[in-house]
Amino acid sequence: MATPDNTTGPDQPFASLSPAVWRGSTVVFDSLDDFSERRHRQPDGYSYGVTGTPTARLLESRIAALENGAHCVIAPSGAAALMMVVMAYVRTGDHVLLSAASYGSLVSLANQWLTRLGVEVEYYLPVASADEIERLIRPNTRMICLESPGTVTMEMSDVPAIAAVAQRRGVLTMMDNTWASPLGFRPLDHGVDFSVEAATKFFSGHSDVLMGSVTTNDSEHYAVLREAQGTLGQQVSPDDCFLVLRGLETFPLRLAAQGESTLRIATWLERQPLVERVWYPPLPSDPGHALWQRDIRSKGCLFSVQLLPGDADAYRAFFNVLQRFSIGASWGGVHSLAAFYPAELQSSRQFPATDQPLIRLAIGVEDPELLLAELQAALSAYGAQRG
Ligand SMILES: *Cc1c(COP(=O)(O)O)cnc(C)c1O
Repeated sequence: MATPDNTTGPDQPFASLSPAVWRGSTVVFDSLDDFSERRHRQPDGYSYGVTGTPTARLLESRIAALENGAHCVIAPSGAAALMMVVMAYVRTGDHVLLSAASYGSLVSLANQWLTRLGVEVEYYLPVASADEIERLIRPNTRMICLESPGTVTMEMSDVPAIAAVAQRRGVLTMMDNTWASPLGFRPLDHGVDFSVEAATKFFSGHSDVLMGSVTTNDSEHYAVLREAQGTLGQQVSPDDCFLVLRGLETFPLRLAAQGESTLRIATWLERQPLVERVWYPPLPSDPGHALWQRDIRSKGCLFSVQLLPGDADAYRAFFNVLQRFSIGASWGGVHSLAAFYPAELQSSRQFPATDQPLIRLAIGVEDPELLLAELQAALSAYGAQRG
């Protein structure tokens, strides 16, 4: 059977505002020489589906532009993007420093895999100063993994100072920047080597796709990441790329609107008698507020609430009231979500910020007045059950 020729179309290209979805696992070549030389097409070119499609490249170039970075490699989830960077660089005998408030899958990768592969894993206090982190650096320290604000308890780190120390000591830095997004903070501008985003969250914005991205300015790092993407088989479907490309069209508007609603709701919650504490750096009461104000230009859409102590039935009563808030993990989409973090989950961490359960709220694009009314009702139910 003859090779189908899908490379030529009508003379006039189809003009559309939306990007083309290019499918393909096999890339075909004009000659034996082209085929034999196919690996030299990396890291930008196409040689097999696992190295990407034009739809993936378009998304990568859009994300790189948002991050003010030179190169981007996408991955099938935020967790996969974090893993790709670690697996591309960390080897037996290396020492890695991780924020104790790192995203859960990175902690699992470190504890359950890296340690068994002979890597020394060490956690640092998420609010540690650059000096304190410098004292933890050893001759074999390969990478510092940052996340700021940290997962669930939202600790802020002095990222520019830590990146400067790492650069001086020849240690790589990877930052999970999902909370702020590149419109709020651009890690590469502050000396971080790898900026990781869970594109599942704000970029896609509609809770219908998983994706992650890694952006870097260094072309050698880019080549290493592209190779790791192929070795680990981490390519992304062009249809999923299309969804994230579409999400990016409204991302700045969503980020701004969700940020305003979130600040409003967090400010209100903080004043409620049943609320012990709200963990959210844009609030002046938050210990990370000064760093947030200095470094971050976005308000996120995610924060955690600590209530006055109550038993499991009181929390059940709170969640039973919720209708506009769906109960579920994840965040960054147009729908508001509520999740529960039991006390044990906090205390299992190396430097727990609290020993109390937390409710984590993700604010969507709904009318904030309606969300406030629902939270008021949920707090009343909590108070009544708590007795
Ligand atoms: C959700 C999330 C991730 C993981 O992204 P997935 O696409 O769900 O794997 C990583 N980091 C942070 C901060 C997240 O919130």
